Amino acid sequence: MIDAANYNALINTIGSKAILVAVSKTKPIEDIKALYDLGQRDFGENYVQELVEKSTLLPADIRWHFIGHLQTNKVKFIAPFVHLVHGVDSFKLLREIDKQAARAGRVIDCLLQVHIAREETKFGLDENELAATLEEIDRAGVKNVRVRGLMGMASFTRDMDLVRAEFRFLHRLYDQYKTARDWDILSMGMSADYQLAIQEGSTMVRVGSLLFGSRFQN
Ligand SMILES: *Cc1c(COP(=O)(O)O)cnc(C)c1O
Repeated sequence: MIDAANYNALINTIGSKAILVAVSKTKPIEDIKALYDLGQRDFGENYVQELVEKSTLLPADIRWHFIGHLQTNKVKFIAPFVHLVHGVDSFKLLREIDKQAARAGRVIDCLLQVHIAREETKFGLDENELAATLEEIDRAGVKNVRVRGLMGMASFTRDMDLVRAEFRFLHRLYDQYKTARDWDILSMGMSADYQLAIQEGSTMVRVGSLLFGSRFQN
């Protein structure tokens, strides 16, 4: 668990360039509360049930980000309170978020996830699917979802040139649509590569192990 001095140093490094989302998946309530007490308000979770449980036990002014792969049939559980859904990778999912947001009387902010990594296993749209999905969204005229930008995960590798190239690619795609669509969030960068991501134009970093310690030695 990070201490106050190192947390403040991290906040200073990130500065006003990006928003820090503290990724608290698998981490206990006490750790989240400790970071909250240092001033952190944006937290990210990957699993719906875990997010719902934690949200009921922690202060109401936490902004909860859903950063995992969201299944259509689980949208209803987080729709009443989720702050930002990072990983939208199909029109079908977006339409369900719209429906559940309307039911909850809200507009839910979302990011479209783009596949930028080499690995086959990572979710996300390719360049053409992104264009097609945006067209579908426009045609359907969804009212209770607002797309604010893009999210991506770089390859899991020590090759920082590759990671940089992937971030650059995502930033270029983001810039292509940003002005016309009034986008303002580019979510990229994790513990290992958040500084690189910010250099490459990230406005939101999702940092877990650097704040909470490794998830494998709990
Ligand atoms: C777990 C996770 C993170 C945080 O990873 P760290 O390497 O612990 O910083 C960021 N983004 C997503 C989508 C994640 O699943």
